[in-house]
Amino acid sequence: MLPKRIGVDLGTANVLVYVKGRGIVINEPSVVALANRDNTVVAVGREAQEMMGRVPGSISVIRPMRDGVIADYLITEAMLRYFIQKVIGRLNLIKPEVMVCIPAGVTSVEQRAVRDAAEQAGGRRPVHLVPEPLAAAIGARIPVNSPSGNMVVDIGGGRTEAAVISMYGIVVSESVRVAGDRLDDAIVAYVKRRYNLLIGDRTAEEMKVTIGAAVPLEQELKMDVRGRDQISGLPKTVTVSTSDVTAAIQDALATIVSVVRTVLERTPPELASDVIDRGIVLTGGTALLRHLDILLTQETGIPCQVAENPIDCVAIGAGVALEYLDVIKRSLPTEEETLVASY
Ligand code: ADP
Ligand code: MG
Repeated sequence: MLPKRIGVDLGTANVLVYVKGRGIVINEPSVVALANRDNTVVAVGREAQEMMGRVPGSISVIRPMRDGVIADYLITEAMLRYFIQKVIGRLNLIKPEVMVCIPAGVTSVEQRAVRDAAEQAGGRRPVHLVPEPLAAAIGARIPVNSPSGNMVVDIGGGRTEAAVISMYGIVVSESVRVAGDRLDDAIVAYVKRRYNLLIGDRTAEEMKVTIGAAVPLEQELKMDVRGRDQISGLPKTVTVSTSDVTAAIQDALATIVSVVRTVLERTPPELASDVIDRGIVLTGGTALLRHLDILLTQETGIPCQVAENPIDCVAIGAGVALEYLDVIKRSLPTEEETLVASY
């Protein structure tokens, strides 16, 4: 059966597509491989990611959304089209309704471009756009329809976004380009400093996921990492532990904490009191970092909790939001074009 309603999370690290009745049908890295000669797309998603660092000079593998903005629009468009068509096929008579969630701070020109791409890929006109924190909150099953304050913090690959939502509207929000990627960069730098070992981004990410924690663990985890010795220039293996990761990522985590605090400070008192009662919900892949909820609870004094399936929340929320188009439109700026740019 052809999907009728589709939610798309155009993330900096991963693109997810949710289809009503089927759940998440696509979850692939936001990566594109291009032939340098004529910029044609060689591969998209997981297949392109496998090529990272392993292909000849004639092919470039890029992450067009890195840092949470559309660094390269044309490539983003090609990627979006590839994923949407993968779900709905090329020749469909009844076009599905599509809701795309895009990062904060994209310009209205870029928004229109994303919408055009989704329409060209086969989405019914007009393709709708939803602010990311709202989609995250809906996907996390936070009661965003009530006149009370609900706080969601989405921590993805490229950025962290904290927002307080009430009655389908974003009351206060703040975002920063520090999230999972920055943690990986910090781990690369730390391992180089501490062990004279050069490792790649993928290895740093693996360390973060396999043994990392936001606050020290009682039972340290360990793993062997391979890299190149800075002094001899030869391959070397070093055993690293959780405390290495925790030390490496402290500064980046402090930035994430400060964004959450800033939003709390700017939240009107009535809503802030609701947030204290209800706690803060964490979404996005980096919410899975061990004990990040504990760190945020300690640093804000408000109970923080990771949403169920935090990586899926935004795509699910975008799909579900299609069922509330009227209310979502009503409670957001009238001109849908300004919707994302204005919060
Ligand atoms: P985006 O919305 O930017 O596409 P995601 O929400 O998909 O990002 O999250 C991707 C980030 O989550 C990456 O930086 C990845 O390393 C990180 N991540 C995924 N799983 C884990 C985990 N178990 N522990 C820590 N970080 C994780
Ligand atoms: Mg995201």
